[in-house]
Amino acid sequence: MIEKKEILFPHDEIRETQDQVILQVTKALKNKQHLILNAPTGLGKTDATIPATLSFALKNNLTVFFLTPRHTQHKIAIESLIKIKERYNKDFLALDLIGKKWLCLQENVQTLNSSQFPEYCRNLKEKELCDFYNNFKRKKTWVKDFIKQVKDKNPLHVGQVFDLCSEEKYCPYEICLSLAKDAKIIIADYYHIFNKSIRENLFERTQKDLSDCIIIVDEAHNLPGRIRELLTKEISIYVISQAIKEAKSLNNQEAVEQLDSLNNILSNLAKEKMNIQDNEVLIKKIDLVKKIDYYEEVIENLEECAEAISETKKRSFAGSVSKFLRAWVGEDNGFARILSKGFSKSGQPFISLTYRCLDPAISTKEVVDNSHTTIMMSGTLSPTVMYQDLLGIDNPLLSEFKDPFPRDNRLNIVIPETTTKFTERNTTMYKKIAKSCANLVNSIPGNIAIFFPSYKLRDEINIYFQDLCSKTIFFEQQGLSKSEREETLERFKKYKNVGAVLLGANAGSYAEGIDLPGDLLKAVIVVGLPLAQPNLEIKELINYYDKKFQKGWDYGYIFPAIIKSLQAAGRCIRSEKDRGVIIFMDMRYAWPSYSRCFPKDWHIKITKEPEKLIKDFFK
Ligand code: SF4
Repeated sequence: MIEKKEILFPHDEIRETQDQVILQVTKALKNKQHLILNAPTGLGKTDATIPATLSFALKNNLTVFFLTPRHTQHKIAIESLIKIKERYNKDFLALDLIGKKWLCLQENVQTLNSSQFPEYCRNLKEKELCDFYNNFKRKKTWVKDFIKQVKDKNPLHVGQVFDLCSEEKYCPYEICLSLAKDAKIIIADYYHIFNKSIRENLFERTQKDLSDCIIIVDEAHNLPGRIRELLTKEISIYVISQAIKEAKSLNNQEAVEQLDSLNNILSNLAKEKMNIQDNEVLIKKIDLVKKIDYYEEVIENLEECAEAISETKKRSFAGSVSKFLRAWVGEDNGFARILSKGFSKSGQPFISLTYRCLDPAISTKEVVDNSHTTIMMSGTLSPTVMYQDLLGIDNPLLSEFKDPFPRDNRLNIVIPETTTKFTERNTTMYKKIAKSCANLVNSIPGNIAIFFPSYKLRDEINIYFQDLCSKTIFFEQQGLSKSEREETLERFKKYKNVGAVLLGANAGSYAEGIDLPGDLLKAVIVVGLPLAQPNLEIKELINYYDKKFQKGWDYGYIFPAIIKSLQAAGRCIRSEKDRGVIIFMDMRYAWPSYSRCFPKDWHIKITKEPEKLIKDFFK
């Protein structure tokens, strides 16, 4: 048994499974090995890994980066650090770091996208137009005192640091970077480490080196998808036409002609490469490059436009085009170049070009190979060997933990009566699904969440469901702000005694980002399999992983869908006291090719008559 004090454990008791997690983490740290940790929700992964890595980092002069996919998860990590500090009175500095845009005190910057904001900020700084930055740079003695005050209050949540900076009118990001130099643990976002230019900038400013860092990636099942998005670049006829307007406003006739020509090239490529019925085709790097005269000069000219535009506007479309053209001439292996055409939501025709990343290891391997230890952890990292392959981790420790909660607290059912298979989507099937859902919702006491493969399918099934359901129905709306989403959830929770039903989508934010512990949620129904649309990107992903690992369908298609289903199902049981029913409603879940993907300790029951099982469970 591990000594609590030895690893700065923040609670009275180390649970047995936490003890095992700590042993695995310690082993990886001592051997300078990497760890892939598949451990179910509720096991206390954060409270086990943070103290184990922090205590090791303090003894060996290393820095811990705890990376999460969402800002909300920073809070749990900082709470753990506050408890460590209170309990052991240990002298270490922790930092809660979020993206620069979210730490900016300028107004309305949230409308800028992640590639536009850095340019905007750089421009203000260079021209000495940001008072918050000027204050930080000029009032050196006051800033030093201010940083000392912040350090004395450590650990602080990022919102608290932001408020303190806001009062004094210092740029919060610059203050955070000053704190980062001495921080022994930094709670940050994925891209602080996995975006190469952001990482290099951060490490240069903080005088840190990857080889002296322990990287913990929380909810790491998200990492492959996030990295693919990060390394993907796209332009469309719309973006180019907006860039033309910018060039005209600058009287830059050369740029206008270059962009006009680019627009024509896209239209001609669509005519040359696509049949009338095609909406996407693969093209080669050279197909675009050979049509653009003086490729590098065009990029430089557009970069100049972007810089001039940034003097008056926060975002530049010319800048987006130049970035795309730079990316387009990049690597072939691990990427697909896709030409698409179709109609936008408003009915406008569009043509777009995408340089799409297929292989996240292009970015992650470099981080993993050069860090002291990387720990990938999640409740859905199974099979662990897939993540080893996808993320390019050589010879890691693979560690899988069983569900720590009593087996009797959960009932896992597959109902193989319906399907959302594309070829069988019709009114009869929707009515059948609606009836089956309504029967379950009406018979299960308390709150229930139902997740569908898409919002569209949810709405089509709800046409029949709403008349059969006897409980109040809540809808997950698309495009809501964080506070609006939370407000819906709070209202839903209030129905825990009378019971309500929440209808969401597997790709939505409720399927992964919510915690409904205790009696707030009695059941989750996962309708259908959230398989990705078999578009060109998915086909290329399957081909790529077939060539690389001979596991194209598993890595590119089947496992990502099952992981989404398991994530949605995981909303129900969040602690050892929670009891609930998890229902997978699709005949494909009973097929061996899909059923083999369920965790072995879930003891799934396959039945077309779940009523008796459910009744007995809630007795
Ligand atoms: S220096 Fe700071 S406050 Fe100024 S624009 Fe950049 S992030 Fe915003």
